[in-house]
Amino acid sequence: MKYDVIIIGAGPGGIFAAYELAEANKGIRVAVFEAGNELKKRKCPIDGDKIKSCIGCKTCSIMSGFGGAGAFSDGKYNITNDFGGTLYEHIGKDKALELMHYVDKINMKYGGEGTRMYSTTGTKFKKLCIQNGLQLLDASVRHLGTDKNYEVLENIYNELRDKVDFYFNTHVDHIRISGGGYEIEAKGEKYTCDKCIISVGRSGSAWMEKVCEELDIPTTSNRVDIGVRVELPAVIFDHLTDELYESKIVYRTKQFGDRVRTFCMNPHDAVVNENTNGIITVNGHSYESADKHTENTNFALLVAKHFSEPFKDSNGYGESIARLSNMLGGGVIVQRFGDLVKGQRSTPSRINESFTRPTLKATPGDLSLVLPKRIMDGIIEMIYALDKIAPGTANDDTLLYGVEVKFYNMEVELDENLETKYKDLYVIGDGSGVTHSLSHASASGVYVARRMLEE
Ligand SMILES: Cc1cc2nc3c(=O)[nH]c(=O)nc-3n(C[C@H](O)[C@H](O)[C@H](O)COP(=O)(O)OP(=O)(O)OC[C@H]3O[C@@H](n4cnc5c(N)ncnc54)[C@H](O)[C@@H]3O)c2cc1C
Repeated sequence: MKYDVIIIGAGPGGIFAAYELAEANKGIRVAVFEAGNELKKRKCPIDGDKIKSCIGCKTCSIMSGFGGAGAFSDGKYNITNDFGGTLYEHIGKDKALELMHYVDKINMKYGGEGTRMYSTTGTKFKKLCIQNGLQLLDASVRHLGTDKNYEVLENIYNELRDKVDFYFNTHVDHIRISGGGYEIEAKGEKYTCDKCIISVGRSGSAWMEKVCEELDIPTTSNRVDIGVRVELPAVIFDHLTDELYESKIVYRTKQFGDRVRTFCMNPHDAVVNENTNGIITVNGHSYESADKHTENTNFALLVAKHFSEPFKDSNGYGESIARLSNMLGGGVIVQRFGDLVKGQRSTPSRINESFTRPTLKATPGDLSLVLPKRIMDGIIEMIYALDKIAPGTANDDTLLYGVEVKFYNMEVELDENLETKYKDLYVIGDGSGVTHSLSHASASGVYVARRMLEE
């Protein structure tokens, strides 16, 4: 089979690259190879009843398939250069923002219309944060919500399915330089193309590393973010979340000078388990529809760690900490803030007596036995700092779930076109280590597709 363009991975990066190429209507033959299922067949077998933990499916339906890791996410598209990746370092800040707005326009066209866009522009909270040693990062955020995000993906798929050849359940095993283009091998079959876009996301990180090794493409190690998910009564954060929805706040600890940041804020929503390669970590959900809302708000507090010499495996470090929490708690551990600062574990009865009712069934325990002291101290400091702008954050009954880990791919050496040292071989999205978010990954796909169209 010969294609003009082959895209590997159908996450937001791959989808938006395919969309842009298809919409140009120039008769370009495009194929998308995806290790996971098409959207409607993506189903994690964990039902909390018969199947309680990961059974190690051949491909993980949470991370893989049409929509990629973002398919069941809460669909928060942050339009900013302040976080979510460093795409701007390659393509410039204005271009990056322009493309993120374009992605938003497409999402609105395919079902997102009517969802709210929040913004930090002109907010009084910026000053309040500065006065209390905190920094509020600038962003606009479109909150699609888990349900709408799914609907938008479904509509985009219906638009693309007749214009692009999709190969689902087809993991690409090899990519080789062949003639003037590339040959890819999947399920024992060979396909060729003139141009190739690799967009394999977080789940494809090991494979991406192998490809870089085989093709001698330089890479550098990236960071890992480690911390906890905080859950508290929604009224404590309502003044912030009503105006901003998601506030990205950064704090520099007095003790060690480390940066602790809020991440993935979910007003009136639930804490959930996340399964990364069989390790259970914690995350948060955010539904747009009010009938799924809870009385709580949750967000993560994360500290970034980056190892380079002689130990380079930042992700391995994060994994080990998550495994330790799984060993002690059989999964995610929950602890009352009051218990943590008193140096005592939370017990089932202490959690039952808590005024904050947990939205996730987790094992009551002691997070100080899991997280390194430096990280734990930074999180405690930040909770007290947040208490000044949202009084009640440092209440004894505030719940902390651990651990939350955000893994990042190693960074692939790319030029300003997101092209590797090989002509017409591009790496985009989270798989490149350049982006870490829906909007940046999607924008990188549009960027490369437009480059190809220009050529
Ligand atoms: C639970 C969760 C919630 C999140 N919430 C948000 C949020 O609200 N806002 C936000 O900005 N970001 C969020 N993120 C992050 C966001 O989902 C990612 O940044 C985004 O999906 C990256 O897009 P991508 O296309 O680069 O990669 P991915 O979405 O990871 O897609 C890569 C695809 O490539 C496929 N693949 C991998 N290797 C191969 C191979 N060898 N052959 C064929 N296919 C392959 C995978 O199966 C996968 O489907 C969340 C992530 C998770 C896990």
